[in-house]
Amino acid sequence: MPPKKILIVEDEPAMVRLLRDNLVYEGYEVLVATDGEVALTTAFEQSPDLILLDIMLPKLDGLTICKRLRERHLATPILMLTARNLEQDKVTGLKIGADDYLTKPFSLAELLARTEAILRRAGTPRLETFQFGDITVNFTSFEAIKNGRALDLSPREFEILRYLVEHRGQVVSRSEMLDRIWGYTGQALTRTVDSHIANLRQKIEDLPSQPLYIQTVHRIGYKFTG
Ligand code: CA
Repeated sequence: MPPKKILIVEDEPAMVRLLRDNLVYEGYEVLVATDGEVALTTAFEQSPDLILLDIMLPKLDGLTICKRLRERHLATPILMLTARNLEQDKVTGLKIGADDYLTKPFSLAELLARTEAILRRAGTPRLETFQFGDITVNFTSFEAIKNGRALDLSPREFEILRYLVEHRGQVVSRSEMLDRIWGYTGQALTRTVDSHIANLRQKIEDLPSQPLYIQTVHRIGYKFTG
């Protein structure tokens, strides 16, 4: 497999050097753009697999770049690097199509972990249908059938089920679910997750009090086994 190509959009030479050296060391192919206009051209001409995007940049800022890329339907994952610890930048960034963000100063280990996670996610096509026990779920048409009978799942319940199924065999924490499914970045009630899980169990499990598919992992979250 050819190495994954990462475009670094950053204007501070020391930061460029740090990112480039470490990513190259990890085996990535690295491109660098030090201003907003070059970033746009490079993103379209070189089709990187991931863009690390600083916000404060000469010519065009990171948020504008992100918006323009998405307006022109470039689906490349974007990891925003925000220098200011402003919640607003993160929220705006995610709303206009960034996939994740890191606040400076961040650790290299964290950056590499996020980079890897985003690339892994981007390489896995989303699950369309899944069968477990006597249940068949189509996540594209939002249909779930149990024993020949249609289940009445809400769109949110489909999302939760899909997330659990996509991570089957792994423990998924409540905060991860809030973040990935509800899109909450701050503190939120983990009870929200529990009540949705309880409803979902009522619909899919034969004995909701002794669930076969959605297991509770004490004090952490849930695990799908099916
Ligand atoms: Ca900058």
